[in-house]
Amino acid sequence: MALRKLRNKMRKLSPWVYVLHTGGCNGCDIEIPCIFTPRYCVERFGIKLVSSPRFADVLLITGPVCTQAVPFALRVYNQVPDPKVVVSIGSCASTGGVYKVEEGASNYAVAGPSPNIFPVDVFVPGCPPKPEAIIQGILLAI
Ligand code: SF4
Repeated sequence: MALRKLRNKMRKLSPWVYVLHTGGCNGCDIEIPCIFTPRYCVERFGIKLVSSPRFADVLLITGPVCTQAVPFALRVYNQVPDPKVVVSIGSCASTGGVYKVEEGASNYAVAGPSPNIFPVDVFVPGCPPKPEAIIQGILLAI
């Protein structure tokens, strides 16, 4: 119990993030690395980008979820250990954005925004969101 408390405290002090790209134009994916550059340098606050979802506390998702990406997205989501938080980055991941399928229409290529696939905790608006907004989203998630 004490060990779990300590582990959760450490996770808050140094959340590790993993980026899951499920479609979109890559605009949001370009903004995310900016927060790790010297200008913003979130690593000084303990926020670290990891290359495996198994090490992550926070899952950043970008783009609408393409139909082909659904099994992969679910596998990645399940690989992030609990307790995890999911942050939807940009309009496409949150609402479908420019890939949104209109009411009554259908699109075989897009399964929908990320909340259609798994629970999302924080939504960061923008197309693409500014690095400051992405940082705020991660802080809200924590
Ligand atoms: S929200 Fe905008 S920048 Fe981000 S993936 Fe969609 S279209 Fe591209």
